[in-house]
Amino acid sequence: MSAKMTPTTWIWMDGRLVEWGNAKIHVLSHVVHYGSSVFEGLRSYPTAEGPAIFRLSDHVRRLFRSARIYRMEPPVTPAEIEDAVGQVVLENDLAAAYIRPVVYRGYGGLGLDPRSCPIHVAIAAWPWGRYLGEDSATLGVDIHVASWRRMAPDTIPAIAKAGANYMSSQLIKLEALADGYAEGVALDTDGFVSEGSGENIFVVIDDVLYTPPWDSSVLIGITRDSVMSLARDHGIEVRERRLPRELLYVADEIFLCGTAAEITPVRSVDHMRTGGVVPGPITALIARKFDDLVHGRIDDRRGWLSHPRRRPLVRRAHTAQGVVSSAAASASSTPTARA
Ligand code: PMP
Repeated sequence: MSAKMTPTTWIWMDGRLVEWGNAKIHVLSHVVHYGSSVFEGLRSYPTAEGPAIFRLSDHVRRLFRSARIYRMEPPVTPAEIEDAVGQVVLENDLAAAYIRPVVYRGYGGLGLDPRSCPIHVAIAAWPWGRYLGEDSATLGVDIHVASWRRMAPDTIPAIAKAGANYMSSQLIKLEALADGYAEGVALDTDGFVSEGSGENIFVVIDDVLYTPPWDSSVLIGITRDSVMSLARDHGIEVRERRLPRELLYVADEIFLCGTAAEITPVRSVDHMRTGGVVPGPITALIARKFDDLVHGRIDDRRGWLSHPRRRPLVRRAHTAQGVVSSAAASASSTPTARA
């Protein structure tokens, strides 16, 4: 399991590129106390045409939806964030990278009415290998069913990718690690399979690909959507269905998927081995097509790859606090409280 982070040079904060080590916030920022943030995780991949960011506009759209659920109005537009994500990749000389934009409530007052706190945006990127372990793509991972359930739909919304949701994920992950598993899969409040701490789950039974539906407290994963599209492209039937737990023990194939985890085959659940060979044939096909797609080796007919372009240096200006990236020089550099 690899959670290590390799520092890069620049982090984009409210329109400025700030040195990695200086990208700091006040300890009394609202987000530190109440988890008031929404965020995204994206990857860029090396391609023959330079780095490509996978499904950039879809990630930014989800970021804004998450923010809207929490009545947060980012002080930048989606286009500015898309542009800034590209600049962070390029200015850090990255090709294969994990990218983390976060929108958070800052310093301005503590209490559960957050409206006096400014809303900030930061974007970092760093090289990140296989999230569930270097061998996970070839050997598969051992997982278990978590004793923790996902949150009920009328409690903390699963569809918002909010920082606070990941307290639930940490309970699931830490329990799995303490018990010797790479990952835990949680059930929803009705006892059906939901998702991993940071991944959606797919199950193959009799050549049909199943995944839990939106109402099983899942994050509506962008990799999940990519997998369903790739599977259908290759004539594989896909069904979004509530999945009883016991299907995990009789499935022919299981895999986890997410931006960090990419496509990770599951070798066993609760010590019961999955199917025959791991990765099984459908998992291997999807993983190969996904890898080809993100690296630009097959036709990107859905326009999922964005190639950021370096801007002429003349459009950047050095300031005392950092380098103003033209992406958000127009955006408010000292965001103020909204709403
Ligand atoms: N579920 C959870 C809880 C996650 O954190 C993630 C990772 N963002 C996913 C699913 C997969 O989502 P995506 O494919 O959009 O990264």
